[in-house]
Amino acid sequence: VMASMTHLQKEKLRLQEELLELQEKLAAQENNELSLSLQLQGQVETLKAKLLEQAEEISRLRSELGGTDAEKHRDLLAAENERLRQEMKACEGELRELQRQQQAPCRDCPHLQENARLQEQLSQLQQEAEETRAKLVELDLEVQQKTNRLAEVELRLKDSLAERAEEEERLSRRLRDSQETIASLKSQPQQIKYIIKTVEVESAKAKQALCETQSRNQYLQEQVGMQKQVLKEMEQQLQSSQKTEAQLRAQIVMYEAELEQAHGQMLEEMQAMEEEKNHAIEEAFSRAQVEMKAVHENLAGVRTNLLTLQPALRTLTHDYNSLKRQVRDFPLLLQETLRSARAEISQAIEEVHSTNRELLRKYRRELQLRKKCHNELVRLKGNIRVFGRVRPITKEDGEGPEAANAVTFDADDDAVLHLLHKGKQVSFELDKVFPPQASQEEVFQEVQALVTSCIDGYNVCIFAYGQTGAGKTYTMEGTAANPGINQRALQLLFSEVRGKAADWDYAITVSAAEIYNEALRDLLGKEPQEKLEIKLCPDGSGQLYVPGLTEFRVQSVEDINKVFEFGHIKRVTECTNLNEHSSRSHALLIVTVRGLDRSTGLRTTGKLNLVDLAGSERVGRSGAEGSRLREAQHINKSLSALGDVIYALRSRQGHVPFRNSKLTYLLQDSLSGDSKTLMMVQVSPAEKNTSETLCSLKFAERVRSVELGPVSRKAELGSWPSQEHLEGDSPGSTASSGRGHASPSPGQLSSRSASIRRKLQTSG
Ligand code: ADP
Ligand code: MG
Repeated sequence: VMASMTHLQKEKLRLQEELLELQEKLAAQENNELSLSLQLQGQVETLKAKLLEQAEEISRLRSELGGTDAEKHRDLLAAENERLRQEMKACEGELRELQRQQQAPCRDCPHLQENARLQEQLSQLQQEAEETRAKLVELDLEVQQKTNRLAEVELRLKDSLAERAEEEERLSRRLRDSQETIASLKSQPQQIKYIIKTVEVESAKAKQALCETQSRNQYLQEQVGMQKQVLKEMEQQLQSSQKTEAQLRAQIVMYEAELEQAHGQMLEEMQAMEEEKNHAIEEAFSRAQVEMKAVHENLAGVRTNLLTLQPALRTLTHDYNSLKRQVRDFPLLLQETLRSARAEISQAIEEVHSTNRELLRKYRRELQLRKKCHNELVRLKGNIRVFGRVRPITKEDGEGPEAANAVTFDADDDAVLHLLHKGKQVSFELDKVFPPQASQEEVFQEVQALVTSCIDGYNVCIFAYGQTGAGKTYTMEGTAANPGINQRALQLLFSEVRGKAADWDYAITVSAAEIYNEALRDLLGKEPQEKLEIKLCPDGSGQLYVPGLTEFRVQSVEDINKVFEFGHIKRVTECTNLNEHSSRSHALLIVTVRGLDRSTGLRTTGKLNLVDLAGSERVGRSGAEGSRLREAQHINKSLSALGDVIYALRSRQGHVPFRNSKLTYLLQDSLSGDSKTLMMVQVSPAEKNTSETLCSLKFAERVRSVELGPVSRKAELGSWPSQEHLEGDSPGSTASSGRGHASPSPGQLSSRSASIRRKLQTSG
């Protein structure tokens, strides 16, 4: 076996070297390929750029080579002419722009504003003058009317005066006539008397008439006075009108003078502006002339250039022709190059592919070999390992001789433990023994390799075995401050999975179950009282599964804490006395790790079963009855079945009695095949517990001792002794009490097997 081991290791080293070499080759090949493709890309790029350049050159030359030289010259000149014309136009435009610019500022100049103001004033004044004139005309009209009326009144006055004078004349004549008549009548007294009498009569009449006339005269005189008064008023009015008119006329004159003045000012300003404008135009014109001159000079220069360019043109034509030829040939050349490059690339790719295939084949072979090696190693090391853990003496152990320490250790061998039982020292050898001072951390250190192999797709079972109070729960669950294997294992799984996240996708799920009186219950389910069944997978894979068992996907420590708390709460609420109940049931935490290698598509599934077994103490002996007895029987049966299964597996028997208990049936696929099992046997060091301690240690050593060769195994035991059969007061009596089969005492077997295994371990 050692020879084969060393041979295998050598083979492994050789293969690793080969693998490294091939990887280097592959890397080199890849580099080559990359540089080649880059080079080709660069070539294609430069060729493209050249092609572009040549096309541009061709188009340029084509435009230059439009016709004969004379025509070209003419065309050129025409173009030049056109250009100059445009320049000229531009100059004119500029000039116009300048003129416009010169005028434009007047828009904002103060003169214009002043002008506008004056004009406004002027129009205002004119309007006023107009108004005044209208008023004047009105007054004139009034005066005219009044004058007319006056003339009328005068005329009437004259008429009435004439009438009066006439009347006076007539009256005075009649008076004279009357006086003459009186004189003549005096001379004719008779007659006269008569006449006097008539005259007297008549005179009265005349007097009356006179009176009338006088009153009339009076009235007329009054009227004349009145008319005179009116006339006077009218004259006064006329005078005032005339005065206003004079005033208005003076105002008009004044306004007109102002207007004149404003107009004069405006004219002056306009004059000044005109002058400025003329000046600017002159300036622009002179500038344009200068520019024009420069343009003409330029034109002359261009003409001379044109003359010198002609030979250059000839050489360019020549070049163009050669380039044309090159361009014609270029696609062919390019195609040729591309074809060869493509061929090279595809060849290189093909080579890389074949190398890759080869490498992958080798890698797979290597993987298989590694797995084989691993399996072999596991087989050699034993895939069932048995550890012992001694808890410290606690307050619960009491005081006095009962609580005395009965367990001692070997300073040179951490696999050995001595128990003082009834005055005799019995020694046991396990794979490793943890003394009371061993910390949870130390215990886990020994376990973690098993936990990580779960990620590689192995199934793992870790059992805590021992009497109640020996520390099973402490080892598996631990305390909040100092967690046990359960939490540490999950934490480790998380960190490992994170480390492999670059290539692998992992999913971690947990389930928690309990087996009590051979009934399986889901600790995370909604119906914790429901009994679950274990069934064969319908896919024909032979795998077992539990329909209805709750699985929680966990991604962090917080998730696990929640799950644990949930399960714990369930258990607490379901049971009146948790401690008692838990000591009589098996508690399982099942962690499933499913992985997918993204590069190869390889899938792995590993299961980690962490089992806190029921207390192994022998209840039957104390004469228990009823349910207590039933519980004890179930516990005994399932623990014996576990021992049987482990025994059958280790001795490679054809039939493994998994179905003898719920526990072994449930864990069937995690116990068989490449699976790994760890039995952590918990013991109490107290004197009063030595009997149970002895039983537990015997169990441990027997599980371990099966590892001897198959011949001795066969000779050793036909079947695993039941729990009851383990009950023995002394190691010697236990050996002889096992169902009539010959079973060597631990002392006889262990020393030999241990020395053989130690040799194997040191060589491996
Ligand atoms: P079990 O689960 O086997 O019945 P427990 O794990 O409940 O036993 O342990 C019983 C008592 O002993 C508990 O109080 C526990 O804290 C204590 N105990 C067990 N193992 C250790 C240890 N290694 N270090 C300290 N205390 C321990
Ligand atoms: Mg417990």
